[in-house]
Amino acid sequence: MRYISTRGGIQPINFKDAVMMGLATDGGLLLPESYPQISRQELDQWRSLSYPDLALRIISPFVDDIPVDDLKGLIQRSYATFNHPQVTPVVHRDGVHILELFHGVTLAFKDVALQLLGNLFEYILAERGERLNILGATSGDTGSAAIHGVRGKKGITIFILHPHGKTSPVQALQMITVGDANVHNIAIRGTFDDCQNMVKALFNDLQFKEKYSLGAVNSINWARVLAQVVYYFYAWLRVTDEGDRPVCFSVPTGNFGDIFAGYVAKRMGLPMGRLLLATNENNILTRFVRDGDYSLANVVATVSPSMDIQLASNFERYLFHLYDQDPGRVRAAFAELRECGRISFTPAEMEQVRADFCSATVDQAATLETIGSFNRETGYLLDPHTAVGVRAALDLLPSDAARVCLATAHPAKFGEAVEKAVGTPAPVPGSIAALAGMETRCTVMDADLEKVRQFVVEHVA
Ligand SMILES: *Cc1c(COP(=O)(O)O)cnc(C)c1O
Repeated sequence: MRYISTRGGIQPINFKDAVMMGLATDGGLLLPESYPQISRQELDQWRSLSYPDLALRIISPFVDDIPVDDLKGLIQRSYATFNHPQVTPVVHRDGVHILELFHGVTLAFKDVALQLLGNLFEYILAERGERLNILGATSGDTGSAAIHGVRGKKGITIFILHPHGKTSPVQALQMITVGDANVHNIAIRGTFDDCQNMVKALFNDLQFKEKYSLGAVNSINWARVLAQVVYYFYAWLRVTDEGDRPVCFSVPTGNFGDIFAGYVAKRMGLPMGRLLLATNENNILTRFVRDGDYSLANVVATVSPSMDIQLASNFERYLFHLYDQDPGRVRAAFAELRECGRISFTPAEMEQVRADFCSATVDQAATLETIGSFNRETGYLLDPHTAVGVRAALDLLPSDAARVCLATAHPAKFGEAVEKAVGTPAPVPGSIAALAGMETRCTVMDADLEKVRQFVVEHVA
């Protein structure tokens, strides 16, 4: 399988190069040249497979430059870190199926992708005798999942900036209790934007980036999307184990990575209805699906902070397919966005969009109300991101279908909102309780680009 850019500016490359490139060098996103097709017969033969074995079947057609035994080892090690034997179990409550994606080390779904990405990086770097210095800014979830994906890995050093005192206490502890020598937490006296801007500035200094082999781990890496395709298949198999029925997925969406993985699963032949794209008040994608209105607005802070995003980076991958794989039209769309703050779509395009997706916005009041009522009726505690998807599914998806709601975080991770919704604190899992007594390591500094640069220079291996 070879990979191409949505902007059309690179020669096709193989999987390992796509993993190491991350963002395409022409500014586009990488996609496979085609999608392997899975027949219904094959699907039924996969019912008895464990999660890692299923992952190998789905991932290997996308990877022809890693020997299959090596790939198998990488996948097995990645999912052995999960604390549930099924990795991503599906539980049935009150007419919906909850696909629990939060059994990884940081209790959010990003572990599914970042555990595998960390192992892939280590494998490819060892083979090439290279090193990678990962630099990132986080408001919480991605940073901790990335740190846990690469802690202790050979050839990799990671620097994560977070705003001092502005992440949730659990998120901060999940980062700063990691004692591995290759992990550097930098707490900035400033905002998330300060962190983000300094990281961007260092990446834009191409000489610096080159000299210190800087890389990123944001959600644009193709390997992250690929890892997430697997659980759509896994969940489909579980809800059809007892017999054939229509299946629909509801996906709480921020950067469009998770839901794009569902779209890939569908293109590979997984039978499903329209994907439900659920948003909080930051609802540009809902306005797009419902009214064809793709215009930027300001970001609003909500109780589902990992979805507080306007410009969803993975959306470009969908646009490439909507435009029949024409990179010229992708470039034109982004030029329009830059100039006018919006992208316009033809009636035919919107017809296609509505064949692929349906969408709903769930505001904060409805999110908290859903956490409360779902808990009263079923005894199950939803995190605020998951609640957005569940509310949308109950309102929009046909009740005769298996309605699968992606549960993207453990409720204890967003305990404050959960407590507000149900009146009592969310039970804290042992792994989180244990963090409080652990030693921490973190460097606090001002939002000063030169100080951050100096710190990186002094700590690259
Ligand atoms: C990242 C994240 C999301 C959004 O996923 P995208 O792939 O960015 O759409 C939703 N919920 C939680 C808990 C997350 O961490």
